[in-house]
Amino acid sequence: MALYGIYGRHEIKDCPLNSSESRKMARKIAETDMSSVLPKYKINKMIGRYHSGLEHTFLWILDAEDPHLIQQFAIDGGMASFNEVKIVPLMTFDDVISEVRKIDG
Ligand SMILES: [Zn+2]
Repeated sequence: MALYGIYGRHEIKDCPLNSSESRKMARKIAETDMSSVLPKYKINKMIGRYHSGLEHTFLWILDAEDPHLIQQFAIDGGMASFNEVKIVPLMTFDDVISEVRKIDG
């Protein structure tokens, strides 16, 4: 299991609330059957999809094998067509504490 965050943001004018083109893309993403798409990108599980409407940012958390395939997922699915996207390896707080304990012994 490897956790990654997809951090995204868009301009206010490109928000699905304001742009019919972005709205169309957001609906396409929402209506995609992820269970048939995710395996193609070696994404084991979509853990959460969180959005901040007025900051125009989002964080999707997923369990995946390859960040380059996550990048391709963001391109192919349309997410990258109206968002800046950053893909970041994540660990749980428990993982952090486990690393801390290794340092201190
Ligand atoms: Zn927005």
